[in-house]
Amino acid sequence: QFPFGRRLPCDIYWHGVSFHDNNIFSGQVNKFPGMMETVRKITLSRAMRTMQDLFPLEYNFYPRSWILPEELPLFVAEVRMMKDSNPSWKPTFIVKPDGGCQGDGIYLIKDPSDIRLTGSIQSRPAVVQEYICKPLLVDKLKFDIRLYVLLKSLEPLEIYIAKDGLSRFCTEPYQEPTLKNLHQVFMHLTNYSLNIHSGNFIHSDSVNTGSKRTFSSILCRLSSRGADVKKLWSDIISLVIKTIIALTPELKVYYQSDIPAGKPGPTCFQILGFDILLMKNLKPVLLEVNANPSMRIEHEQELSPGVFENVPSPVDEEVKVAVIRDTLRLVDPQKKKRKDTHSSFHTYLLVFPTQVQSLPAGIASMKDKQHKHHSLKLSLKLKFYLKLGSCLEQAPEGAGELPEAALPSLCLKQVFPKYAKQFSYLRLVDRVAALFIRFLGVKGTTKLGPTGFRTFIRNCRLSNSNFSMAAVDILYIDITRRWNSMGIDHKESGMCLQAFVEAFFCLAQKKYKSRPRHEQVAALVELCECRLAAVRGKRLLWGCG
Ligand code: ADP
Repeated sequence: QFPFGRRLPCDIYWHGVSFHDNNIFSGQVNKFPGMMETVRKITLSRAMRTMQDLFPLEYNFYPRSWILPEELPLFVAEVRMMKDSNPSWKPTFIVKPDGGCQGDGIYLIKDPSDIRLTGSIQSRPAVVQEYICKPLLVDKLKFDIRLYVLLKSLEPLEIYIAKDGLSRFCTEPYQEPTLKNLHQVFMHLTNYSLNIHSGNFIHSDSVNTGSKRTFSSILCRLSSRGADVKKLWSDIISLVIKTIIALTPELKVYYQSDIPAGKPGPTCFQILGFDILLMKNLKPVLLEVNANPSMRIEHEQELSPGVFENVPSPVDEEVKVAVIRDTLRLVDPQKKKRKDTHSSFHTYLLVFPTQVQSLPAGIASMKDKQHKHHSLKLSLKLKFYLKLGSCLEQAPEGAGELPEAALPSLCLKQVFPKYAKQFSYLRLVDRVAALFIRFLGVKGTTKLGPTGFRTFIRNCRLSNSNFSMAAVDILYIDITRRWNSMGIDHKESGMCLQAFVEAFFCLAQKKYKSRPRHEQVAALVELCECRLAAVRGKRLLWGCG
């Protein structure tokens, strides 16, 4: 552990919070720059909306969402319209503050007029989302799934999914939302951090009973009831791949800004926590993506009033140790070398102790508790090392056999590029982002200036008598001003990626009016790529000449 950073380079850096925990220039780090920002509720909803706009059927696994306060009038109008056209529709919505976690500040409403506008929405934006009223129940309880996903590389895209995850249960029998039960969090919210405080929470040593179980135990149960578990897994895999495809454009902009091409590194990988809800008909729905999923394998138990002890949680251990062990195996810098030399297995870790997200509420401000918590974290980490170590030590060194042969089979399964063919047509915004990055110009920026936007239009020859350069400037100013007034990132001025995507969609609509949205955008992307290739070809020719 190096709480204040470390000068000597490492092979693997294990940061507690974000890419920026420490300045590093080589090796591999377990966080992508910008991941925390990209998976925040509002940014995720925006990225999903862009994809839903292009591919509505493919992205219907994300509940319809509106961003507050800016889309409040739109939310009110759309709900009114839907109610008018279908008077029997009695929806429920869930309001979630941006940047919140562990169910913090979440509430359910039946009508747009129930949104709590006083102060908080202005100072703390939120997402309001259609509430899934008919979730799948087990033992009459609502539950969600936490799946661990390893984003091993962004370029080329490499995604792994853990074969097992966690199922986190509510602690009150579920009833469809009514005005009477809307506020009952133990019935409607599956967060562990909330339900642990219910008198009904059951800690169990078995992985298939209690309030936290393995996902595989749920699958066994479903399978015994005759459910098509294979189809369910394939739907989950496709949800994960599609979600990551929606996140990559933004991540690439952050990546080139923090690690510009030509810089020695580091390279990044990241374990993400996907929260998924199953509907009654077994359709998986994405709730959110967590950039810092808790890796705790113990929980606090109150032995007698006020006396707490940390006890092992077999369910967490079963799932999480395997995820970390296999992540290290997959990113192991010695792997290649070992294949050649059969040298012994060494993984170098640098762990930062500030896993902010896993701190129980309020603990950060209490010094004595902080100390206790810190030693708990150390003991947890030691436990991890011992577990990982015991796996690794079983390896027969230099015995002519790879050490991996002694390890359990990988719990992380590659899904991309394995299924790349099926999903490549969805990577359209990625190509728009590549155009955006190309015209950013200055290294280290994430926003496009007016000159960069003009150069993009000029090089792709998109202006003509119907669309003058003056109109180009107006388009730039209009869209940029609107996005900047939403005020997410005031550090830099200029056009952010989402604003560029909006401008691009606008140009595509102008040029290819009658086609469906995804065809318009695909046609314009191809045109731009072609024209830029021609410009580059000419330059090369001139160079040769
Ligand atoms: P947080 O980051 O605060 O945990 P989530 O988006 O995960 O926020 O929501 C908290 C809980 O609320 C989820 O675990 C789930 O039980 C419930 N929930 C969230 N969104 C929905 C939804 N659209 N439909 C039904 N339940 C939801």
